[in-house]
Amino acid sequence: MSRTLGRLVTDLGERSTYDAASQCSRCGYCETACPTYVATGRESRSGRGRNQLVRQMLEGRIAGSPDLQGALNTCLLCGACTSACYARVPTPDIVLEGRRMLGTAPRWVEMLLSFLFQRPSLLARTLKVAFIFKRLGLAWLARKSGILDLLGLKWLAAADAHVGEAPSEFLVERLRTMRSSEMPAWFYLASCGPNYLYPRVGLATVKALTALRGPVRLLESPCCGLVCYNYGDIEASRELARRVILHWGRAAAEVEGGGDLPVVVDCSSCAAHMKSYPQLLLEDAAWSEPSRRFAGRVKDAVELLAEHAAGEGPPSPKARSFSAGIVTWHDSCRCRHGQGIVDAPRKVLKALAGEGFVELPESDSCCGGAGAFSFSHPDLSDALLRRKIGSVASVHARVVAASATSCLIQLAHGLKKYYPEAEVRHLSEIVADAVGEEPERNP
Ligand code: SF4
Ligand code: SF4
Repeated sequence: MSRTLGRLVTDLGERSTYDAASQCSRCGYCETACPTYVATGRESRSGRGRNQLVRQMLEGRIAGSPDLQGALNTCLLCGACTSACYARVPTPDIVLEGRRMLGTAPRWVEMLLSFLFQRPSLLARTLKVAFIFKRLGLAWLARKSGILDLLGLKWLAAADAHVGEAPSEFLVERLRTMRSSEMPAWFYLASCGPNYLYPRVGLATVKALTALRGPVRLLESPCCGLVCYNYGDIEASRELARRVILHWGRAAAEVEGGGDLPVVVDCSSCAAHMKSYPQLLLEDAAWSEPSRRFAGRVKDAVELLAEHAAGEGPPSPKARSFSAGIVTWHDSCRCRHGQGIVDAPRKVLKALAGEGFVELPESDSCCGGAGAFSFSHPDLSDALLRRKIGSVASVHARVVAASATSCLIQLAHGLKKYYPEAEVRHLSEIVADAVGEEPERNP
């Protein structure tokens, strides 16, 4: 079974990974857009450098080495290079292909992730136990005592230090009790971040879009497969994608016109991944068409909030005056670079906050969260985080709005540490306030 995709969907059409990497003309336009190049000044830490390395691997001219692993593993997969590139070279996908060829993740990590994420109830039970440990302070104790370092689990200590939330009740447990018999106007798919870590974000999305668009139906599905796609087994990622599409197909069949309803996802990383299912299932003839249909229905919550809250489509709320002080927008990488969503959140925030919305300098630069990057590369991640928080402080913001789970974790950590005057909120929470219902705090 292949450990790689082999073929990528690029803006110039389907290409083999080699041809996609060969589209890089080495012009260097992406260099200054690449956060890891800006932070290190090293060619091997840039989009251009990484594309050349993967190309050389595919030509058999270089093989695995610590340097090569370092170059590929330090990529944030942010996609800023692709946005800056006139040929739209899909560097994050090329880097991931390189990592899979090298097998940079230990095999036991791949197997554990595949095993857990394909079993949602076991994953939920595991997280419940971990969160009980965290709430009791035992995780803190293990971290402070140095036992995690001794066991070679430094990344777990970093994860515990970063993640401030440990809800006792997951989002889908709350939403199941709110099930309505009304015909839905949209589906809500609770991805892992809002489900396990930020139920308040999911509740805010449901409240805001129910008020603005109409009744919702919860689409219960397993993980979208992004974790396995980035850190694990590509076949497990494909299997999860098929299951998500099946769940959607069954739910859509129960509703008249259900296949045309938007499927709203309020973590931009997951939304971008689900929109890329056609690439993931490219070689699977039976799933190629369903994956295209499903991907066409996926909407980042930011997109739908803009359609309604910014007055593009009826009904539009009468926004309460925004009294929290200056609000700014951090472009989550998979929102801006992964999905090309730039204007939508700005329209919402301008509609709600008016002059209180201020553009963030370098808003499109990664905050250093990037999935598990902040746990696996704490020093480089912190350098990017400090730069981001410096930008927030420079505009005297009191609220930073964002749209991806990883950014919410990273920015909450960074603001607490470097600029406690501000807080980070998901865009849904701000709109939920504006439509007159306070979003709930995590239970
Ligand atoms: S990835 Fe694009 S922008 Fe960067 S060097 Fe290659 S062609 Fe130029
Ligand atoms: S995805 Fe981000 S970190 Fe990786 S090469 Fe591109 S700009 Fe640099």
